[in-house]
Amino acid sequence: MAENTCVRCGAIPPSHDVVSVASADGSFRLLCSRCFNTEMADLAEVHAFEHPEFTPVRLSDADGVVHEFHFRSLLFGDQLSLEAFEPVPGDDDYAGFRFQVLGDPRSDPFELLGNLVQKMKRALAVKHLVEDAGHLVVAETTVRGRIEWDGNERDRLPCVVI
Ligand SMILES: [Zn+2]
Repeated sequence: MAENTCVRCGAIPPSHDVVSVASADGSFRLLCSRCFNTEMADLAEVHAFEHPEFTPVRLSDADGVVHEFHFRSLLFGDQLSLEAFEPVPGDDDYAGFRFQVLGDPRSDPFELLGNLVQKMKRALAVKHLVEDAGHLVVAETTVRGRIEWDGNERDRLPCVVI
């Protein structure tokens, strides 16, 4: 069985589309986002929920560099989370840009997608870092980023992704 196989439907989705679900007995199950949402819709009694699937989009940043984003939608009870990831070749799926919006699962998922793409475009249009004599420096007074673990198990240093 492949590492990313969904235990419910047997699909092998890309790693950013797999959810690890904790059971009451402390074990974990891997589900694809579609199966996760189906189970969540049952639990949260969101009737007639349709799992939205979006094809990847490409957006250019302030430097004209094209970024490809993949989407994942997850139902969290009465909220639908829509995330966009930029998979980086040879790296894990979380190293690139990442955006998220939350919305009502009963509303039109394309509206949510529109909001998310607007947010992505705004963020990509802003240049946070500039190169100065070979060093990256913060361009203005704001910098947007997130703090993550750098993936190295031995030194548990936080890693800031900008
Ligand atoms: Zn599945």
